[in-house]
Amino acid sequence: MGVDMTGRKAVTTVAKTAAKTVAKKAAKTVAKKAAETVAKKAARTVAKKAAKPAALRPSVVGAAVAKKNPNPLVTKRTPASLAALPPLPRVPAGFRIGTHVSSQGGSFAAPPRASEIGATALQLFTKTPNQWKEREIDATERALFREALRVAGSPVTVSHDSYLINLASPDDAMRARSIESFATELRRCHALGIDFLVSHPGNYMDDRDAGLARNAASIAIALAAEPGDTILCLETTAGSGTALGATFEELAAIIAALPAAVRGRVGVCVDTCHIYSAGYDLVQDFDGVIDRFDRVLGLDRLRVWHLNDSKTPFDSHRDRHELIGSGSLGDAPFRRIMTDPRFRHTVRILETPKLDDATATDRLMLHRLLGFLAI
Ligand SMILES: [Zn+2]
Ligand SMILES: [Zn+2]
Repeated sequence: MGVDMTGRKAVTTVAKTAAKTVAKKAAKTVAKKAAETVAKKAARTVAKKAAKPAALRPSVVGAAVAKKNPNPLVTKRTPASLAALPPLPRVPAGFRIGTHVSSQGGSFAAPPRASEIGATALQLFTKTPNQWKEREIDATERALFREALRVAGSPVTVSHDSYLINLASPDDAMRARSIESFATELRRCHALGIDFLVSHPGNYMDDRDAGLARNAASIAIALAAEPGDTILCLETTAGSGTALGATFEELAAIIAALPAAVRGRVGVCVDTCHIYSAGYDLVQDFDGVIDRFDRVLGLDRLRVWHLNDSKTPFDSHRDRHELIGSGSLGDAPFRRIMTDPRFRHTVRILETPKLDDATATDRLMLHRLLGFLAI
């Protein structure tokens, strides 16, 4: 076995060495190929990037938009720019105008944010609007909120209800949950002494008329359960999907279906972005739209405006708010809303984008709107 073994060993060693060399070579080839592939890919990416027209690169697009639109609000502002802001807007006596302000830190943290921008009205959420979790207002919170309002110059107060509520739902459990949540919204408003509660009509899901009837019945239950002074304002919607409330007639139908005893506690909130998207042409036929509102609902029902320009075109049925004067509505309808004496009794609330500095953007929006009064 000795020689044989040696011979075998030698063969094995040679074979092993050969195998190693082959393996090394193979590995080298694989590595080479892999490296080539990576390099090719990288080269392709670089080539692609280089080939992409400069105009499509995000930074260049931003610059082009800023160039095309001289509106300083298109450029994101930084807190440092606050120093360069114009002075607080001077709101004429009795003119109620403001914006949706954050209630982060508690409801009583909202009024100082309104006075910081010179507002005489504010809108807030009394709970986290995209969660079902409810909360109640205790005596301490009420006292703190009322004192904060007094210090802020007693702005008119508007609350907006939760986005999850669907008072028109055909699903009994969902509708019961929504009524409970909506009644709790009303209870918080009464506890805080809030003037208006804005509520979106629900989604009918199955049949439009049945949905309108369910929506009205749900509101009636909640209003009966929670007597108080807060005026419920049904908000006009953009009419996407099965959303109710995109026509003045649908809002009128909901109000007409309410028991007479609670009908006096209900008004309307017109959102300019929503009605323009829903097909009411505030740009070409402002007077026609307002006349229609008066005929169908009566102008005395109009209590609150949501003043928003729109990112989307007329009749788009989309709900995308834009800064005043920077969207498809432009300045003209807002100038009319600010100056028409028929709207003297209404509350005007901005829900425009805040960019990266809510105080700076909102203060500039108020300046822009109040500027229409001087022209
Ligand atoms: Zn709105
Ligand atoms: Zn909206």
